Amino acid sequence: MNYKYNEVEYAELIYKKGFQSPNHMPAELRLTAIYMRRVLGYKPKKLKEEFEKWCMLHISDYNRASYYKIVNKAVNQAVKKGSSLIKLDSISVYKNEIEFIQRCSIFDEQHMEYEHADLCQKLMFAFMVQLKINHAVSKMKNADESADGSMFFQGNQRKYSAMKKMAALPDKIKINEDLIYYLYLSGLVTPLHNGLICIDFMKDIYSLDNSENLPEIIIKDFERTGLYFDYYNKEKNIKLCEYCKRPYKKKSNNQKYCSECAAIVNVKKQKQRDLKKS
Ligand SMILES: [Zn+2]
Repeated sequence: MNYKYNEVEYAELIYKKGFQSPNHMPAELRLTAIYMRRVLGYKPKKLKEEFEKWCMLHISDYNRASYYKIVNKAVNQAVKKGSSLIKLDSISVYKNEIEFIQRCSIFDEQHMEYEHADLCQKLMFAFMVQLKINHAVSKMKNADESADGSMFFQGNQRKYSAMKKMAALPDKIKINEDLIYYLYLSGLVTPLHNGLICIDFMKDIYSLDNSENLPEIIIKDFERTGLYFDYYNKEKNIKLCEYCKRPYKKKSNNQKYCSECAAIVNVKKQKQRDLKKS
């Protein structure tokens, strides 16, 4: 489970079970305090008391004198006007957006159709979804600002690897040399500096009017974004899991579930068998 865009669930987990990642203690304290303020509804004074109790319970070497700064900081962030937890369940993609991407020609240096044009389009799809995610998150954080969608992707090496995974690109493909360079040659993106790129084609995507259309794809698992595109394009071996309805790559003919669900379904079936026996 990826909690990056579901802080509500993540904060609930921390609140109930304690820290999930000791290296991110300040961030987890902040999420917990916001959870207690916004979800459990504690007023500021009560929040401080309850939050201190929670810290006593979950920080093994807790003592007021050495922790009061950290505790106060988290509480102050939680009571600040507009503090909120991100909860992004899905991103909608519309038919004309997909068709726009499919219509884009991607050229090589000789101005011939590039051999990995299909992978370039898959990466475009992932960039589009990532920018839609960023837009939705920034709208949640600044509730009253109706900012336009950004056209920029800023990434260090880790973020580009995450993008490669999100787009479900083959391992052997190098995202910069093999794809982004050709998107640049084709006038669809402009690399700027230090991993910042302008996703130029988003200007066209943003200009499409979808106010009266129903979404064609509803992406619920952002990490499988590229697989949704493959499924839409009827790539062979890409199926929807019968349990979670997310797309996955089929490894054998009789496979019905993605690897994550297969384990869950197996446990359930075994339980049913055990029940019948007893
Ligand atoms: Zn599944």
